Amino acid sequence: MNLGQGFPNWPAPAFVKEAMVEAVMVDEENQYTRSAGHPALVKALASRYSRWLGREVDWQKEVTVCVGATEALFALTQALMSPGDEAVIIEPGFDIYAAQVKMAGGEAVRVPLRLDPDAAGGAGSWVLDTEELAAALTPKSRLLVLNTPHNPTGKVFTREELEGIARVVLSHPRLVVLCDEVYEHLTYDGCEHVRLASIPGMWERCVTVSSSGKTFSVTGWKVGWCVGPREILRSVMTANAWVQFSVPTPTQAAIAKALDRADEPYGGFPTYYHSLRAEYEGKRDVVVAALRRAGMQPVPPSAGYFVMARTVGVDAPAEYMTHSTPSCPVMTRDWALARHLTIDHGVACIPPSAFYCERNKPMAADLLRFAICKTDEELAKAAARLAEMADRGAAAGAGEEAAAAE
Ligand code: PMP
Repeated sequence: MNLGQGFPNWPAPAFVKEAMVEAVMVDEENQYTRSAGHPALVKALASRYSRWLGREVDWQKEVTVCVGATEALFALTQALMSPGDEAVIIEPGFDIYAAQVKMAGGEAVRVPLRLDPDAAGGAGSWVLDTEELAAALTPKSRLLVLNTPHNPTGKVFTREELEGIARVVLSHPRLVVLCDEVYEHLTYDGCEHVRLASIPGMWERCVTVSSSGKTFSVTGWKVGWCVGPREILRSVMTANAWVQFSVPTPTQAAIAKALDRADEPYGGFPTYYHSLRAEYEGKRDVVVAALRRAGMQPVPPSAGYFVMARTVGVDAPAEYMTHSTPSCPVMTRDWALARHLTIDHGVACIPPSAFYCERNKPMAADLLRFAICKTDEELAKAAARLAEMADRGAAAGAGEEAAAAE
C-alpha cells in the first residue's frame, strides 16, 4: 500500500476531465497561447485573487501561468536570486526549494519548525519561532520560502503567526517571500487558510504560488501560477519566455472552466471545495486512527495530503539500522523504519529526513510521513496491515516477557 508519494490514486472529477476534452476539440486551443498565461485562465485567477487578497489584481501584469508550482518557484528563484544571496527555508520543507536555490547560485539557510508534543491537548503542534527566523535573516537574505498549508506537517499558519512573520519581513527591505500555497483548498476542521499577501504591507513583499494539481486531483496536468507585484512578475514572465515559452493551452483552458464550475453546488455540498475538504477530512481521520492503533503518535494535520507521526516506541529492527543502500549510505532511524514498514508490512511511507538538510536530519529520527490521498480501500488495507504489525509486536513482546519470567 503506497502511502508514500503525494498523488491521488482515484479518477479526477468528471467536470474537470470533460473540460479538458472540450478544450482539445476547440482547434485554436491546441496552439501556443500567450506566454504569460492563457487569457481565460489568468482572468479567472485575477478575479479570485482580487477577492482573496482584498485588492484589484491586474490579470495582464500581476498573474502568470507556469508548469506547475514547481516551475513557478524555479522561475522566481532564477529571476530573484544572484550568486551569494541567501534564501531562508523552513524545515522540514519540500525538497525542491533548496535544490532550486542552489541552482540559482544562492545559499539556503534553515530555520526549523519545532514540534511541541504537548500542544493541542496532547496531539502536538508545529511551531515557528519568529525570533529564530529573525536571527536567520541577514542583509544577504533575498528569499523566504513560506509554505502554508505546509508539506509535510499539515500545519496551517494562523493569522497571528503570519502577522509575526510580516513584522520580521518588514525590517528586511530586500527580502521577498515566496508563498507556496498549493494545498490552499485542502483545509480541515473549518481551519482558515490565510494568505500572507493579504496581511497589510505584504502585497509588495510576496509572490503567491499555487497550482491546480491538488485542488482538482490532476497532479499530472502541471498547471501552476504566481500572483504578485508587477515588477517581480515582469521578471518571472521574462525568465519564462526563455524557459517554457508557453504552458499547454488546453490544460489552461480546462482549468479556467473547472475554476468556474468549482464554485457551484457539487455532490450535495455548496461548492466543489466543500466536498473536497469533507472527503479528505474523512481520509485524514482514518489514517490518524490507524497510526494510533499501530502505536505511533500522529500529529493530526489541519490541511494537506499528509500525516506526520512520531514513532517513539515502535521498534526499528536492528538489521535495518545497520543496513545501508546506495541512496542512503548512513541509515537514519526514520529510513530504517520506513524500509521495515515497506518491506515487512507492505505499507510504504516517506522518511522525513528527506525534508531536512544533512546537518538537521537527526531531527527526523522519530518521524514518518504518510500520504492520505489514497482510495478508501487502499487506506483500509494499510490500516489492517498496520494493526497486524502492532498485534504481532504485542504478541512477541508478551512472549519475551513470559520467557524472561521462566
Ligand atoms: N509545493 C508543495 C508544498 C508541494 O507539496 C508540491 C507537490 N508535492 C508542489 C509545490 C508541486 O506542485 P506542482 O505539482 O504544481 O508543481
